[in-house]
Amino acid sequence: MFNSGKTLSSKASVFFFAITVFLIVILAGLSAYAFHSFSVSTATSHVRTAAEIIRVHLTEAMISGTIDQRQQFLQRLNEVRDLRTTRVVRAPVVDEQFGKAAKGEFLPDEVEKKVLQTGQPTFMLDEANGERIFRGTIPYIATTSGTPDCLQCHLTKQGDVLGAVTMTMSITNLYHDAMLTILGLTGTVAVFMLLLFVLLGYLLRPISNTAASVEKSVRDALVGNFKSQIRKQTNDEIGQIADDMNRLLAFLDNGLTSINDRVAQLTERKPEIGENLLEATINMVSQLTQISHYKLAIEEDESKNDIYRRLLATLSEKFGVEESSIYEVLHDKNEIRSIMVNGDAETLCLWCDKRILNQPVSCRVFHTGRLVNGLIQPDICYSFRAHANKDKTEEGNPEEKEEARRHPLCFPILQSGSVGSILQLVVKESEKEKYQEALSYINAYLRETAPVLEARRLMETLHESSLKDPMTGLNNRRFLEEYVDTLIANVRRKQTTLTVMMLDLDHFKMVNDTYGHDAGDTLLKELASTIKRNVRASDITIRYGGEEFLVVLQDTSGQEAETVAENIRVAVEKMRINYGGIVLQKTISIGLADFPGDGNVFWQVVKYADMALYQAKETGRNRVIRYTRELGVELPET
Ligand code: GH3
Ligand code: MG
Ligand code: MG
Repeated sequence: MFNSGKTLSSKASVFFFAITVFLIVILAGLSAYAFHSFSVSTATSHVRTAAEIIRVHLTEAMISGTIDQRQQFLQRLNEVRDLRTTRVVRAPVVDEQFGKAAKGEFLPDEVEKKVLQTGQPTFMLDEANGERIFRGTIPYIATTSGTPDCLQCHLTKQGDVLGAVTMTMSITNLYHDAMLTILGLTGTVAVFMLLLFVLLGYLLRPISNTAASVEKSVRDALVGNFKSQIRKQTNDEIGQIADDMNRLLAFLDNGLTSINDRVAQLTERKPEIGENLLEATINMVSQLTQISHYKLAIEEDESKNDIYRRLLATLSEKFGVEESSIYEVLHDKNEIRSIMVNGDAETLCLWCDKRILNQPVSCRVFHTGRLVNGLIQPDICYSFRAHANKDKTEEGNPEEKEEARRHPLCFPILQSGSVGSILQLVVKESEKEKYQEALSYINAYLRETAPVLEARRLMETLHESSLKDPMTGLNNRRFLEEYVDTLIANVRRKQTTLTVMMLDLDHFKMVNDTYGHDAGDTLLKELASTIKRNVRASDITIRYGGEEFLVVLQDTSGQEAETVAENIRVAVEKMRINYGGIVLQKTISIGLADFPGDGNVFWQVVKYADMALYQAKETGRNRVIRYTRELGVELPET
C-alpha cells in the first residue's frame, strides 16, 4: 500500500524519530553537564565548609592544649558519609616555629606543596576503584581577624600560608542520583514523543491511505480505467476529498463510456476487452474528425474520379493501402466497369476474373451487397485472382509464392439501395491484422463516400440524359454544342477534316397529318437506325431538330462523304415501314459542307450544309447537294 519509503507516513516517522533522538541526546547531554557542575560545586562548597570547621577545631585544640590529639579528630571525620580521607599538612614556616611534625602526621604531597606555596585552593576529580572521587586542598592563610588571631601564636606575617587541609570525598552516589534523574527525564520525553507519534500516526493514516488510494485511481485512470473507488476513512476534509474524487471518477466513467459508445456507433468499431477507454475514445474522435474533413473535401471534388482518387489516397495515407481496384456497376447495361487499379485510372481487370465485367453476378460483393472479407475466408470469392503476380507464383520458391498471395477485401458502396461502386483492397498475408483493425474505419470512410458518389453519379446521369434524344437514342444538339470544342481541337491537332451532313425527310409533315404522330415517330426511329447503320462508329449522329438530323463524318474526304450521303439517301428510299398494316415510304434530302474546307468556323459550316440541304429541297428533294460558294456565303459570328 505504501511506496518505498516515500509515503507521507514513512516520512513523518523518519522525521519524528530524528526529532526524538535529537531531543533525547540534547536533554541527556545538558542534564549530564548540569549534574556534573552541580556535583563539583556542591563538593567544593562541602570541602570549603569542612576545611573551616577543621581550622576552627584545630585553633580550639591549640588553645585548649589538645592539639596533640588532632589525628584522632581527623580520623573520626572520615566517618562522615562519603568523606573518604582528611589530612592536614603544615607549611615550612610552622615547622620552623614549632619543630618538625609529630609522628603520624602527614608530609605534603606535590599538590599540597603547590597549594602551600601559592596559597590557592586546588580541586580535582578522579576515579578510583569504580568510584568518582573529589579531592579538594584548601590552604590556611594567616589573618589578623578572629579571636585569637593567627599572628598571636604564629610568628609570621599576615597572608602567609600556615598549612593546608586535603579532603577526598566520593561523589558516586551523587552521580547515580544524577543518572537516575537523567534516565527519568529522557524516558519521560521518549514516552511523550511515542504518544505524540501514535497520535500523529492516527491523524496521518487516513491522509496517507487516501493519498495512496487517489494515486492508484489516477494511475488507473491514466490507462483508461475509471472504475476504481477511493475508500472514505474519515468525515473531515480528507473524507470529502475521497467523496469528491469518487464523484469525479464516476462522472468521467459515465461520460467517457457514453462518448465511447456513441463514437463507436458512428465508426461501428467494437471495443476491445481491457482497452484504454480514454485512448480509444481520443483515437476514435480523431478518426471521426479526419473522416469529416475527408467528407468536406470530396463534396467539393469536381468529378467522380477525383473522389475515387481521394478515397484511395486517404486510405493509403491512413492505413497504408497500396494495391486496390475500384469498379463501377452500370445497372442499365448489366455491366461492371473497372475505374482504377492501384490508384491509376485503368480499365484493366487486374485482381479479378475478367468475366465479372460482363457478368456482374459472378462478382460476390455485387450479388451479396455485403463486405467480402478474404481476411477471414481467403477463398471466399471464386472470381478473385489471389496471384496476379504470376512470375513469382509460377517460378518462385514457396516463400515467394506465399508473399505473392493476396486476399480480397471488397466493400460495396451502396447507391440508391444497390451496389453502385466497389472498392477492392488487395491484402498481403503480412498485412491481414492491420486491415482487420482498420475495417471499421474504412467502412466509416465509405459510408461518407457513398452519398456523395450517388449524388455525383445522379448528376452525371441527368447530364447524360440531357444530351440525349430519348426517342431515337441519338445525341441531341446540346451535345454537339458541348462537344464541339473538343471535336475542333482534335481536328486541328490531327490536321484532318470533317464533313457536316444535314438531313431532312421530304414531306414528312404529311405522314403526321395522314397517319398520326405515332406513325411519324416510328418513321423517325427507323430513320435514325438507318443513318447509324450507314456511318462509322466514330462519326457523330445527332438529332438536330424535329425530323432534321446532322452527321459529322470524321477523317472523310469530300468524295467519300458524298458516297456516304448517297448511301443514306438510297437506304432511306428503300425503307419500308410497316405501321398498323400501312407501309410507309419516304425519301430524304441531304446537304454537305466541309470543315475547314468550306469555312473556318464550325457553326458556319453547319449553316453551309443547311444551305445545301435547302438547295436539295429546292431542286426537287431526294438528293444530295454539296455546298458551293454560289449558294451564298455567311460571315462567321464573332
Ligand atoms: P419538306 O420536304 O419541306 O421538309 O417538308 P416537311 O413536311 O418535312 O416539312 P417540314 O420539314 O417543315 O416539317 C416538319 C414536320 O416534322 C413538322 C412536325 O410536325 C414534324 N415533326 C417534328 N418533330 C416530330 C416528331 O418528333 N414526331 C413527329 N411525329 N413529327 C415531328
Ligand atoms: Mg424539316
Ligand atoms: Mg422535312
